[in-house]
Amino acid sequence: MELVACAYASAGCPDRVPRSQLSLHNESHASHHLQLVWEKMLKIQQIQGAAGCPGDDSQLMERKESESLVMLGHHENVSKVRFK
Ligand SMILES: [Zn+2]
Repeated sequence: MELVACAYASAGCPDRVPRSQLSLHNESHASHHLQLVWEKMLKIQQIQGAAGCPGDDSQLMERKESESLVMLGHHENVSKVRFK
């Protein structure tokens, strides 16, 4: 009998089942598979959050803030020159 890896093996399901019983396994382990996928997704989100991926716009906000501060400084210089 040919054993095949579960479709959720990459998500962490270690089960190998006969090909004919694969759909049966998917049915009986549906909630288990959902939990595995959910936990994997949370881990990926945590990794992305720690690495500060480009999707995280907090760094972008900081950059915009410092840019506007620089612009404000330029403005002050210009007005000081004007009012001399
Ligand atoms: Zn499975």
